[in-house]
Parts: sequence; C-alpha cells; structure tokens
Amino acid sequence: MPEPEFLLATPELTGAHLDRVRAVLAQLRRVPALAERYAGVDPPGSLAGLAAVPVMVKDDLQLALAQLRPRAARGATWVFQSGGSTGSPQVGYAPTGLYMAEVYAHWRPLSRADVFVNGWSAGKMWGAHFLVNAYADLAGCVAMNLGGIARDEYDPWLEFFATRKVTAYGGTPSVLRLVFGHARAAGVKLPDLRAVLWLGEAWDRQLAEDLAAVAPNARRWGMFGSTETWVVATNTPDCPDDVWHPLPSQLVCVGQDELLDFTCLSPEVLNPVLRYRTGDAGQVVSCGCGNPRPALRVLGRRDQLIKFRGHLLNVDDLVAGLGRQPGVARAQLVVREPAGGGSVLEVRLLPAGPAAPDLAARVRDHILGSAFGPSIVFQRNPDSLEVSVVDTLIGNERTGKIPSLVVRPAG
Ligand SMILES: [Zn+2]
Repeated sequence: MPEPEFLLATPELTGAHLDRVRAVLAQLRRVPALAERYAGVDPPGSLAGLAAVPVMVKDDLQLALAQLRPRAARGATWVFQSGGSTGSPQVGYAPTGLYMAEVYAHWRPLSRADVFVNGWSAGKMWGAHFLVNAYADLAGCVAMNLGGIARDEYDPWLEFFATRKVTAYGGTPSVLRLVFGHARAAGVKLPDLRAVLWLGEAWDRQLAEDLAAVAPNARRWGMFGSTETWVVATNTPDCPDDVWHPLPSQLVCVGQDELLDFTCLSPEVLNPVLRYRTGDAGQVVSCGCGNPRPALRVLGRRDQLIKFRGHLLNVDDLVAGLGRQPGVARAQLVVREPAGGGSVLEVRLLPAGPAAPDLAARVRDHILGSAFGPSIVFQRNPDSLEVSVVDTLIGNERTGKIPSLVVRPAG
C-alpha cells in the first residue's frame, strides 16, 4: 500500500499544529462511540505519526458533533447544513466570520472597487451565501444579496447587472450555467463583469463557453471545501479549474485509492476534523500558476461509479459526454430500482434553447451506439433505457445544486 501523501504549506507540522491535533484527539476520545478507536492512538509528533491516525468518515464526524456541541469562544456559534442532493445532510459549526480571514489573506478575486452580486441561495442553513458575504466584508466591495433566481427572473436581473455595472458575480456552477446559458441565447453582454466566484460543485465546460461569449472580461475564481471542513483550498483563473491550492491551516492527505482526507489545523475551527474523508478523490500535482503553495487536483467523488445491471457506469463521465451532445444544455441520470428487479436508467435532457423534435431519439441512438459499459444492456433490454427532454432537472431547492445522479429505490 503506498504511503499517504500530505500537502502542507509548512515543511513539517509546527508545535501549534501538533497542539491542535492533540486537542482534537482528546475531543474524539470523549465521544463514547469513538472512544475505543482513538484510545490507543498516540498523539502524533510528525506527519509520519499522523499517517497512523485512523480516518474519520461522515457518520463519525456527525456522531462527534452531536455529542460535543461545539461553541465559539466569542460571538455566535453558527450551525450550517449541507448535503441532501447526494446523501444525508451533514451539519457543521462555525464562529462569526466563518474563517474567511485566512481565505482573504490568500485569495483576492474581489477588491474595494468591485460591485459584487451574491447569487448563492440564502437560508435553510446552507453556508455558501453567508460565507461569501463574510468574504465581501473583508474585501470592502459593494455587495448585493440576490440569492438564487428562477428562469423567468433572468432577463430583468441580467439587465440590472448591466445597468449597475456589476463587476463580480458568484454562485453554484449549476445555477451560473443556467443564467449564462440564457444570457448567451438572449444576446446579453456584460462587459463590466470581470470575476465569477464559484463554490459547491465542479466547474463546467459549457459555463466557460457561455461566460466567454457573454462576459469576455470575466474570469473564474473557485473555492473548494465542505460544510464540515469549511474552505479547504482556492484557485485562480491561472490554475486549471480542477487544481486547488490548500490554505495553510488545512492539511490535505491523498491516501489509499487516491481518497482525500482533511485535517483542520486552526485552533479556532469548531468541527473536530481530523483525517476526515469526504469521498472526494485527488492527486498531488504541480500548478503552473506561480502560486508557491502545493497543489491538488480534485478528481471528483469515488461514489460516482455505480453498478447498473451488473455493469460499471461512471456517472460523471456519462453526464459530461451527454452534455456535449448538440442541443443539450445539461443531462441528468435517474436510476429507478423497482421492487421486482430490472433497474431502469432514465436520462433527462435539458435542451439548450428550443429542443429539436428528434433530440431524445438522437441522444438515445448515441448512447446505444457508444462503447460505454451498459450500452450492451440497453441493446438487449431496450426498456431499461429511457431518454426524455425536460423543462427542468431535479435539483436541490435549498442550494440550487443539480446532482448528476438521482437514485429512486423501490418502495
Ligand atoms: Zn495554481
């Protein structure tokens, strides 16, 4: 088994880092369900020692948080919730300021000169909207809280962006893609827009194309993280969109099967995040942007590989491939698993503009004729594949995220 590879801004763990790791270990030992696992773990004195600390998974952290109920030393303790689109919701705690001072120190998409629109949905305990506002506060820009918008609101808001000379806009790629896709089709131009902030999902090639047509001066600035770890890493327009530079207080480890785990080394972090595995995979890379911090390529989630009627199906690859078909804005997979067996793969297509009458049939032929895993299943069992053109994809109302895969079990 290859040794785990740690990405750390300093050559070794500092004394303060080690104090933090020891404090979290002590917290985890106070959680009855985890006490036994951590009882025999020696407090590490180095990165090599940390490699011997067991990894935590989502349920472990949720058990620990339920027991520990963290409280901020000063100000309010904010509770946020993520998930729900691909799994059960995850809770995370954060103090006022939401740890954005460190992000601001290392990542500067916004300055005082900017007019920024926050397009992340607010409320229902999702953190992105509030986190970006904490960032805007540090940047000292003009900020507007728009939140998520529906399709019939795009035109007036795009006009508002143009007349108010909005220079920066942020949101989830699923939401941004629909807004900029619409703007491009409507011939909208936003020459003042120079920064697009994104967080919550992978970047999107179609979004990049639409953005270049609508706002030729705009460049993308990403944050990568989760409600439990908070912002782990950032990237700039000079980095590939899937390459990230972890912040100095975040220790990322590439372990077995390229699975990532995260350790928050800041003493202010309320969540006991110690070798916490989110399901994301990645690899250590070098980034040509000139940033001296180490770099990480995020490969996406390992649980996006599913078995359909005995054949492996890579959800991300299939959805990305279908999204490149002419006339398709975005695709989504729904797997229905009837009680009597015989799973059905439903491919939902959101058309780019008015749909051609043969769009569904054309995409179906493309899938049947392709060499990807289950196409043989569909050739033998034509009823196991359904392709339909839809007005809207199934999304998470709270976050605006659109999962690539929805599984509908029997019952
Ligand atoms: Zn870079």
